[in-house]
Amino acid sequence: MKEDFYDVLGISKGASAAEIKKAYRKMAIKYHPDKNPDDAKAEDMFKKSAEAYEVLSDPDKRARYDQMGHAAFDGSGGFGGGAGNMNMDDIFSQFGDIFGSAFGGGGGGFGGFGGGGGQRRAKGSNLRIRVKLTLEEIANGVEKKIKVKRKVQAAGTTYKTCSTCHGTGQVTRVTNTILGRMQTASPCNVCGGSGQMIDKRPSDADSQGLILKEETISVKIPAGVVEGMQLKVSGKGNEAPGNGIAGDLLVAIEEKEHEFLQREGDNLHYDLYISYSEAVLGASKEIQTVTGKVRIKIDSGVQSGKILRLRGKGIPSINGYGKGDLLVHVNVWTPKTLSKEQKDFFERMQGDENFTPNPEKSDKSFFEKVKDMFS
Ligand SMILES: [Zn+2]
Repeated sequence: MKEDFYDVLGISKGASAAEIKKAYRKMAIKYHPDKNPDDAKAEDMFKKSAEAYEVLSDPDKRARYDQMGHAAFDGSGGFGGGAGNMNMDDIFSQFGDIFGSAFGGGGGGFGGFGGGGGQRRAKGSNLRIRVKLTLEEIANGVEKKIKVKRKVQAAGTTYKTCSTCHGTGQVTRVTNTILGRMQTASPCNVCGGSGQMIDKRPSDADSQGLILKEETISVKIPAGVVEGMQLKVSGKGNEAPGNGIAGDLLVAIEEKEHEFLQREGDNLHYDLYISYSEAVLGASKEIQTVTGKVRIKIDSGVQSGKILRLRGKGIPSINGYGKGDLLVHVNVWTPKTLSKEQKDFFERMQGDENFTPNPEKSDKSFFEKVKDMFS
């Protein structure tokens, strides 16, 4: 027993044309094969509702159906053939009425349903550039002015409707499947899916009506970026012809080598060389940091290999919380040549109690310090 067409669409016998249309639209969206791949039940509902709509949306057919029921379309009477054997082609061709002409015939472009337009907007290609940053720029964040050659729409270019896809931006292809004929749509390759073609263009524009233009684009780079990271500046890639959307500008981060500082995650390392006498007597030394120079105190009797941690003098976390530290590695510079007098002095110190190594617990070994740093 065939289901009642009004029941299929979930409407009353007295439903208005607008109500019928609305009900079918809802069903078509719900059971569309693109949304329900390999779902035979959904496809059945999709076909049933299309069939119901085909009859109920036509005042003649609807009157006949109201009088005679399904018998009106069973082949012997009524319309001959009728709605009983609609294929996917017929169903999709209905969409022109339901979803606006831009969608007419194109089953694949499902994304167009909600948005209203239905037409695929061509997107310009992305542009990729690299930007080299100093550690100081990375630590503080920076706004870079970057010169980019991008394609933009040439002034004076006019457009006309694409003659291949008639402005829909899509070409359809019908394939036979076990479930019946299925229609798939792909972007029109004549107009690139925009539905538009160049009508007139200036002589210096390319076939898409675009010209290369050098622009200076300001890119805000947040603090804490890492080598290899890619930032996106939306809409600053190549423009697309007609009503298309511009591509994006993708900015790849590179880190310049620093003269004094080495980066390790958010921490920085600095090798400080002090003289033998500075190690013995203590000293005040100037350290290069990413936010300027700072002066640090070196206690007398400092051991070579000691690591001083300057908290918060590293790189801010890209996630926005916390900052790394600056780790100052103390290296005591041992003189390579000595005057006679100096040599005599150190010879006298051989075996002297003060010159004999006597590491305390606090003078951790190198390995313990490394362990400390990463814990
Ligand atoms: Zn086209």
